[in-house]
Amino acid sequence: MSHVFINGNWCRPEEAVVSVFDRGFLFADGIYEVVPFYAGHALLFDQHMDRLERSLAETEITNPYPRDQWLSICQTLAESVQDANAIVYIQVTRGAEFPRQHLPSADIVPTVMATVSHWTPPTATAAPVRVELMEDIRWLRCDIKSVSLLGNIMLKREADKLGAFEPILYRAGRITEGASCNYFIVKNNMLYTPPADQLILGGITRDWVLNLAESASIEVQEEAFSIQELMDADECFLSSSTREIQPVGFIGDHPINNGEVGPMTQQLAELFRNSRPHAIEEHS
Ligand code: PLP
Repeated sequence: MSHVFINGNWCRPEEAVVSVFDRGFLFADGIYEVVPFYAGHALLFDQHMDRLERSLAETEITNPYPRDQWLSICQTLAESVQDANAIVYIQVTRGAEFPRQHLPSADIVPTVMATVSHWTPPTATAAPVRVELMEDIRWLRCDIKSVSLLGNIMLKREADKLGAFEPILYRAGRITEGASCNYFIVKNNMLYTPPADQLILGGITRDWVLNLAESASIEVQEEAFSIQELMDADECFLSSSTREIQPVGFIGDHPINNGEVGPMTQQLAELFRNSRPHAIEEHS
């Protein structure tokens, strides 16, 4: 079965190769996108495409395909895995050229790669996890979904060494996001999440959670909160395409809601599951 799309061709993972002069390899000069599929149906495909187009526009990398072609590539990949429950990964780099030079040529052709892995979408709210506070050491354009993820990876490894699920990052005393997720807190029935500025990646799941909250008449503030406000929160959870809504029970050793899933987190996690493409329910 073919699992990798490269520059218009399909191949098996072991056959998938790109040039060592690809700027993705040399400079991490590229962007990516991750789209979840539930029984062959993408969740929020257009929103993922909006973000892909924005990442390409911000980095001035040429968008190689129109949206309907992206959809067809992603669908072919999703349908190649069991039950078509799939995480589709798309990567576009600026392209390959020799000799290596920082400034790319004007006529460089982007390298496109897309691949897929099987996943099991959650059927119930996950148990709360522990996260670790860490200083956000990344660059100041976290709004671009860039493959330059060295900062994220260093932080994720550090958190892992401490036995934590994820880091929770702060900059100048205010929470930004995780290494691969966004954060929310609940205080006095109000839902808070940091604003989608250049300090965070505006998660598609984050936006969808805000949407679901508003439709359930939950009051929402897109406002940066401090470490102290995090510690004093009634509830905390993180969000991402692959984790959906993941409750947080501990910040280091400090419990949130006695380490249990809070009522608003549970409500939003259920609303989220009910908003997914219905086909998944038939398979679970
Ligand atoms: N923030 C960062 C740094 C991420 O890498 C991700 C996802 O990988 C997210 C947030 C969540 O984004 P999404 O909800 O679109 O998966």
